[in-house]
Amino acid sequence: MGIGGWLTWTAAAREVCLQTGKKVTLLDQPRHIAYHDIFVNNPYLNQERWTEDTHKIYMGQKACNYVLEDYQDRVVHKSDKHIINVILEGLGMQDTAESNLWCRVYPREKYDTFSLTGGSLIQYGRKPLAIIEPNSKTNFTKNRVYSIEKYQYIAEKLKKLGFVVFQITNGLCRLKGIDSVEYKNFSDAALDIGKADAFITTEGGLVHAASCYANTVCIHTSYNPPKMVYYPQNKNIMIGSHAPCGLKIRCPECKKDLEQHDPDEIIQAAVDLAIARGKGHLLQQSST
Ligand SMILES: [Zn+2]
Repeated sequence: MGIGGWLTWTAAAREVCLQTGKKVTLLDQPRHIAYHDIFVNNPYLNQERWTEDTHKIYMGQKACNYVLEDYQDRVVHKSDKHIINVILEGLGMQDTAESNLWCRVYPREKYDTFSLTGGSLIQYGRKPLAIIEPNSKTNFTKNRVYSIEKYQYIAEKLKKLGFVVFQITNGLCRLKGIDSVEYKNFSDAALDIGKADAFITTEGGLVHAASCYANTVCIHTSYNPPKMVYYPQNKNIMIGSHAPCGLKIRCPECKKDLEQHDPDEIIQAAVDLAIARGKGHLLQQSST
């Protein structure tokens, strides 16, 4: 699991804290993910780890894992719940309400509030801001990517419509002619995407980080069961036809789904988000 996946524990810990009345101490060995800065300043987590009166939770326990079976060529996920509720069930807690399905990274003391562009965001004034993350991790599965050509089309069309468009360039995919930003630190990216009127990405680590902002256009392939990473506050674009696929090796059906998807659906979702944020009058024209 990448850093983003561990963020689901911020939502689970918040719910445990509300259900038990005690702050949570996260424990995990030997990866030390519990000490990662994605958990710093979280008001539901015990930051003083030697305090006794907390609810101590081992993050690595199997009962909380959303993977049911991991084979060489495919994975079988627990399919009937959101990841956050899988964790809560594993901890013996009640499921949380849909409205509480959100994770959050809290700012560190020294976080630069304009780290996205080193301060130059100010020059764009109130223009709607779209941030695109065109990179999907492919080390575990090849079937969770969206097309670079379609991302390029989306970025260019959003610019024509009046959006300021940035791409996150941590990875191989680079969009031509689109301003970019690269992050050394997951938490900085997690905080910066909150500045976007529309954050566009396939489901992956940053989707969990963005779930507190309600600004996300999330592209879902068939790889995961739909409920697993479905945040109801997002504009969820389902391009898959056969979920849960779970294939790690290239899936011809996933490839076909991707080829057939109309990227204008994503553009329209971004426009709808900008309109919902009171920026519709700053756009040039209808996208369709
Ligand atoms: Zn597939």
